[in-house]
Amino acid sequence: MKVFLGVDWGGTYIKAGAVDSDGKILEKIVYSSDKLWEKQNFLKEIESLVKKLKPFNIQAVGIGAPGIINTKKGFIYYLPNIPGWKNYFLSDNLKKKINLPVFINNDANVFALAESLCGAAAGKSRSIFLTLGTGLGGAVIFDGKILNTEVSALELGHVPVTLKGKVCGCGGRGCIETFVGNKHLVKRYKQLSKNMREKIEVRDIYIRAIKGEKEALLVWKEFSFALGIFLSGMINVFNPEVIVLGGGVSGAFKIFKPFLWEVIKKQSMWPQIKKLQIKKAKLKDAGIIGAGLLARDSFLR
Ligand SMILES: [Zn+2]
Repeated sequence: MKVFLGVDWGGTYIKAGAVDSDGKILEKIVYSSDKLWEKQNFLKEIESLVKKLKPFNIQAVGIGAPGIINTKKGFIYYLPNIPGWKNYFLSDNLKKKINLPVFINNDANVFALAESLCGAAAGKSRSIFLTLGTGLGGAVIFDGKILNTEVSALELGHVPVTLKGKVCGCGGRGCIETFVGNKHLVKRYKQLSKNMREKIEVRDIYIRAIKGEKEALLVWKEFSFALGIFLSGMINVFNPEVIVLGGGVSGAFKIFKPFLWEVIKKQSMWPQIKKLQIKKAKLKDAGIIGAGLLARDSFLR
């Protein structure tokens, strides 16, 4: 059985694992540091992970990175939340250190790969994946393959849902991300409850909505309206069999699911949604598993 190193790379952490060909994690290592913006620190850490996992005889390394990647060249254009990483040949530089093949993709694509092979979208050939958190990341699997250009990934968070609207971090206006990102939800709740000072998180808005609080419910209704309009566009284009929601905000799925369906039923083409399922992501370590499977598939190819 061949074993691969899967690396889930966040802003201040590396979650890594020895992943077998079936996507099973044999050993998991979590490393936290606020110095990962320094390239040499990152490279050194991956080198030490490979050494620690030596008994598994790692064949190749897969990395899910939070930003814009050239997947063919293993080149990082930039990582929005990790300063210091711009225009860098990560695969080549890492290969020199560890003497193993290295494959990189965007973290949303890696998440989709894991959930489609052994998670909530297993066995489906057309699926849409969203990670709902600070921003909105996403991926599409069509005909069993990740829709990807040489420059990953699909910028689903920056699909506009209105002609007017707030300016987004990308410089555009009215992007879906500006309506469903967790900072927006917190700000909107504070506006509605007329208490701008309260320290509150998305989880609190969820709990208050479960208890029936009007303002909290309204936040989730507005969220569902925006997300529903966006998803209806995606449904009409891709005709997915399943939509998988991951990321911190998806923890509130129970409360927003009925509102979301209401919008989708009104806005989508009906033949498209006859068999459609909307599900929460299933895997606990999709980032590690997906990166391991990325290494497996790229290596075997
Ligand atoms: Zn945008």
